[in-house]
Amino acid sequence: MGEFSDFRSDTVTHPTEKMRQAMAEAIVGDDVLGDDPTVLKLEEMAAEITGKEAGLYCPTGTMANSIAVKAWTRELEEAIVEARSHIYNMESTHMTFISRVTPRPISSDRGAMPPDVVEQNIKKPSVHIPQTSLICVENSHNNWSGAVVPMDNLKALREIADRHDLKIHFDGARVFNACSASGISIKDYAAIGDSIMFCLSKGLSAPVGSVLLGPKDFIDYGRRLRKALGGGMRQVGVIAAPGIVALTEMRDRLHEDNTRAKRLAEKIAELPGISLDPGQVETNIIIFGFDHPKYTIPEFLSGLREEKVLALATTGGIRFVCHKDVNNDDMSRAVKAFQKLLT
Ligand SMILES: *Cc1c(COP(=O)(O)O)cnc(C)c1O
Repeated sequence: MGEFSDFRSDTVTHPTEKMRQAMAEAIVGDDVLGDDPTVLKLEEMAAEITGKEAGLYCPTGTMANSIAVKAWTRELEEAIVEARSHIYNMESTHMTFISRVTPRPISSDRGAMPPDVVEQNIKKPSVHIPQTSLICVENSHNNWSGAVVPMDNLKALREIADRHDLKIHFDGARVFNACSASGISIKDYAAIGDSIMFCLSKGLSAPVGSVLLGPKDFIDYGRRLRKALGGGMRQVGVIAAPGIVALTEMRDRLHEDNTRAKRLAEKIAELPGISLDPGQVETNIIIFGFDHPKYTIPEFLSGLREEKVLALATTGGIRFVCHKDVNNDDMSRAVKAFQKLLT
């Protein structure tokens, strides 16, 4: 347990000793020229794990998503997105800024967009209307408290995409948390998307980076887009090396984060001011509504900070994220702080 128990995000996870060692020892080359062996190894490994043809190491998940949208769409087109999705709400509008396509947000049941509504929103182009060319899905779903989107729903969307000749991009920033919670394999999830992105920098605890995966020609074009966006990095094996450790060693422990989140949710759900159904905490993210006579959300968060517990406000309440760097002592500290402040 450190000075603070930091539940703000799983992006705060520090690299493991093994990751630091891998960084120190990484064999590197100029990746823009295609000769950084460590990056190539990471991209091949990610492709193998997801069952996709090729991979592209990107500095961020946002850049990987931007590249995917840009590669799958053209101007005067539209992309269907889930209303609370990260790609629509938290990536500074790259759809309009970079790809110049219109996002069409669809309301959902905890991340699962109703297939009939999605289908009704698919448009054939006319002089007035942009053509739909892409559907974006997200799983686990960040802003739906880490919800695992049911496979039946994803398969129904895949069928619709095939019927209408659309692409699907799968934002799998935390897809390995979803795999761990549902028991569904990464290959099965990845097969839903024409492309998929996952983050190494979140629960998997690597310091930097995400991987975009898809068909070889898509990735070849994506490599050009990455350069154009300023994401062509040189001896980047230094930061790709911990990504290899992340994929090899860190996926198997994500169930611990998912379980801790559920336990924490169960302990705080009954406290005054909190609205939370622990049954809806399926992975490592807890989002709860907060309405207490004594505190506003910012006041409660600063009260927690005084107890050395860090969390963030989010749309609809407060967010706690469990990850490698919060242990059982951090959990107890958090529960005690909640009890002290709220009762
Ligand atoms: C974090 C996140 C991203 C983007 O990752 P960055 O590396 O922070 O740009 C994309 N999608 C989801 C669902 C995320 O949680």
